[in-house]
Amino acid sequence: SDDCNMENLKNSESCDPSSFLRHFRKSSATPVMLLRHIAQAMATEMQEGLDHPGERKLKMLPTYLECLPTGNERGLFYAIDLGGTNFRVLRVQLDGKEGRILKQESIQVPIPQEVMTGSSKDLFGFLAKTIVQFVSREADLGFECVALNQKRDIGFTFSFPVNQTKVNGGSINAWTKGFSISDGVGEDVVDQLEIALADMGSVNTKVVCLVNDTVGTLAQCRYWNDDAMVGVILGTGSNACYVERAAAISCWSSPPEADDLTVVNIEWGNFCSELLPRTFADEGLDADSLNPGQQEFEKMIGGMYLGEILRRVLLKMAEDTGLFGSEIPERLTKPFSLLTPHMSTMHGDDTSSLEVVGSVIEEAIGVKYTTLATRKVVYDVCDIIAERGARLSAAGIVGILTKINRCGDLMLSCLTTPNDTEVKKTVIAIDGSLYEKYPKFRNYMEDAMKEMLGEDYANNVTTTLSKDGSGVGAALLAAAISTELRLGDV
Ligand code: BGC
Ligand code: MG
Repeated sequence: SDDCNMENLKNSESCDPSSFLRHFRKSSATPVMLLRHIAQAMATEMQEGLDHPGERKLKMLPTYLECLPTGNERGLFYAIDLGGTNFRVLRVQLDGKEGRILKQESIQVPIPQEVMTGSSKDLFGFLAKTIVQFVSREADLGFECVALNQKRDIGFTFSFPVNQTKVNGGSINAWTKGFSISDGVGEDVVDQLEIALADMGSVNTKVVCLVNDTVGTLAQCRYWNDDAMVGVILGTGSNACYVERAAAISCWSSPPEADDLTVVNIEWGNFCSELLPRTFADEGLDADSLNPGQQEFEKMIGGMYLGEILRRVLLKMAEDTGLFGSEIPERLTKPFSLLTPHMSTMHGDDTSSLEVVGSVIEEAIGVKYTTLATRKVVYDVCDIIAERGARLSAAGIVGILTKINRCGDLMLSCLTTPNDTEVKKTVIAIDGSLYEKYPKFRNYMEDAMKEMLGEDYANNVTTTLSKDGSGVGAALLAAAISTELRLGDV
């Protein structure tokens, strides 16, 4: 029967899995015309956010960066990277054009749960301790010898929305992604770290830039390739940044030069629009989330959420269509019992018997026996959710391309040469587990970009993995800034 009405599924008694699936597919659909409209809306909202700083859904946060890495930087630089479950500290030894990255080393430590939800003093104390230990070991490892009392420049990647006041300072808007630290909102993040470092007796480091992970991702790619214009994270959370004219930042009181370039952190996760194909699962997820009404776009794309959308759909199918038999599997009723890695593993099952799907269902939901038909339905639900998320990310990227193509002659040169005959190459730097470790997600995303841009145009837009960009990119930015300052001194 075809009684599955997505708005009214609860009341549909005679609903079978395949008609449910048909309706779910329809309500999640992202035809190319819809994607184009979403891209257009994204571009419009970006302009709105620039024109009304802090007042629109897209925050369009300024970075106050006046330079990006060129590849000519040299010396020893550090980066610290905080944004998820681990804290990383890195050092890179750069040797200008010839050697590029001569040497690189990093450590990664899990952030203890009590630190993620403790006080900001605990958090920054923990970071400072890790940094001091790491810095003190550089000579043992054959890095360039720097006098211990000479300052090391650090690029600080902090993957949360930050209201920057300068290139190396700003305060957090709100914690996300499992962090919930009661105090410290509104206080300068870099100041808090510097105080913690000083408390440990360490004065031989200096934070020269505070950046979002998208910005690190762009910077790392830019180090190798001048055509890099956009940085995107498709991971636990989702966001993007792009190269913008400094003059477009209205709250920057002393921008370098009118036609100089800078970087803007879009915070696209908070994009929302009537155009987005939301379903009952998205509404439920949002209502039960820590930040209802916020990060609507991120909640349809991010790795933190895809598995939970899947769980909600499967639970509804268990209830309404008896997908797993007459009983509702207990574990399916528990939020976040299905995670995105489960989903990508099932979605990656290309065997005709879908045995991998079966074993994940058993392991994660506790259902021992499933029919091939059931496993096929589960596979299809994974496919629908991943495809939608991937295509929406593609629409976001095309929205940025639309935006930079139409904001004045200078930015036009990002995509076209001044005489407008030849289209210039544009590189999109992407990092994050969905892009790196979920091949079907990545393929759907890249296919959708081609669909939207058309074959000819798509040839000029390249997407590339900027692995580890959030860490290394910040060190490269620190290097670029220090190089600029040194040149300025001459
Ligand atoms: C944060 C962004 C970050 C993104 C990816 C989002 O939740 O708001 O600042 O870039 O996650 O890590
Ligand atoms: Mg990261």
